[in-house]
Amino acid sequence: MSTGLDRGASAPSPAPTTTPATTPAGSPVVSRMRRFGPTIFAEMSALAVRTGAVNLGQGFPDSDGPASILDDAVTAIRSGHNQYPPGIGVPALLEAVAEHQHRFYGLPLDPTTEVLVTAGATEAVAASLLALCEPGDEVVVLEPTYDSYAAVIALAGAVQRSVPLLPGPDGFVLDRDGLRSAFSERTRVVLLNTPHNPTGAVLSAEEVAAVAALAVEFDAVVVTDEVYEHLVFDGRAHVPVATLPGMADRTLTVSSAGKTFSVTGWKVGWVSGPAPLVAAVRTVKQFLTYVNAGPFQPAVAAALALPDSFYSELAGDLQRRRDLLVAGLRSAGFAVSVPAGTYFVVADPRPLGHSDGTALCRELPHLAGVVGVPVSAFCEPGSVAAQAVEPLVRFTFCKSDAVLEEACDRLQALRSR
Ligand code: PMP
Ligand code: GLN
Repeated sequence: MSTGLDRGASAPSPAPTTTPATTPAGSPVVSRMRRFGPTIFAEMSALAVRTGAVNLGQGFPDSDGPASILDDAVTAIRSGHNQYPPGIGVPALLEAVAEHQHRFYGLPLDPTTEVLVTAGATEAVAASLLALCEPGDEVVVLEPTYDSYAAVIALAGAVQRSVPLLPGPDGFVLDRDGLRSAFSERTRVVLLNTPHNPTGAVLSAEEVAAVAALAVEFDAVVVTDEVYEHLVFDGRAHVPVATLPGMADRTLTVSSAGKTFSVTGWKVGWVSGPAPLVAAVRTVKQFLTYVNAGPFQPAVAAALALPDSFYSELAGDLQRRRDLLVAGLRSAGFAVSVPAGTYFVVADPRPLGHSDGTALCRELPHLAGVVGVPVSAFCEPGSVAAQAVEPLVRFTFCKSDAVLEEACDRLQALRSR
């Protein structure tokens, strides 16, 4: 897999060329999608390829998942699992997701009606919002916001209402005043994400409870994206919203195999929750992809049953790599708060004299042979959150030690400038 390391040292620096942030004038795309250009991940990965920089931008592991999951997929391909699977997913995976939710969180689910397999978490979120939102309905999100959310809210004709997650001395915290004022009579969905991309925040039990209380007060459905559920560090616990009293009835929980099993290209995701909500999502999902990933579904089913040691080693190994990258960024001169979860760390380059994260990300391959992504790309232009994160850069640590060490060495160049 390409990391940039195998392309040798940085090529001579060409002038920074970047793709536009919005769709070009005259594009035939519908007006509600016109403000969306190529994703920041596509832009920054292309920049890494062009410049030979180490790519710590787009979050994808540079090694494959456990050998057993790969072997199981090969076996499934060789043993005839190559036609359309059932619309809701193969029974083994539906059962494995239900079993996983019970094993880790004590949530009882009927695999035949309360689980739906999707084309990654991306489709699960998209189908949920398209299924639940009438045009003009409001969707409360945490901002910075994972990039697909704003686009799907726009596709649904819904309106985004943001609660800022603001940087503090000990990481990002929910703006409690902003939380209440984001809700209104038009709130239909609260789209939550914990552990949170891009900030690495893991919402505390109190924060989750505060969101849940407002969802009840305003009679909103919670769609909660928990793809980083197993990437939580320092003995912290991930608190799924659905485990809070009374919340299982109004919560759709989304996850996927990509992060937990290091198979982001397989795009096997799922959504679980009460049967009427899952059925609503299925109504939309069946006309988006219908089905996907036939032979990968049984492989993911088997992997979900891996022993607890697999899950604890995954988190422990990533925590070690987090510490490696945090130390390297600090030594290069960044101010860094240590993320509680995910595989992203947010770095503040102001001590190095840089106050515009977007400009820095475009220059970084030329300054130091490394690529990150600006946190402001996850914000609405001009918002409270956008202003708060303007200088900040997200780097991923889901790479090998050698790649992380190379990136840290290269970043030392910033000190001498
Ligand atoms: N949600 C979040 C918060 C993510 O970071 C990502 C990407 N890694 C996704 C959804 C997409 O997941 P998938 O690849 O399973 O669609
Ligand atoms: N979720 C990954 C990230 O945040 C990227 C996924 C994508 O490229 N759409 O880096």
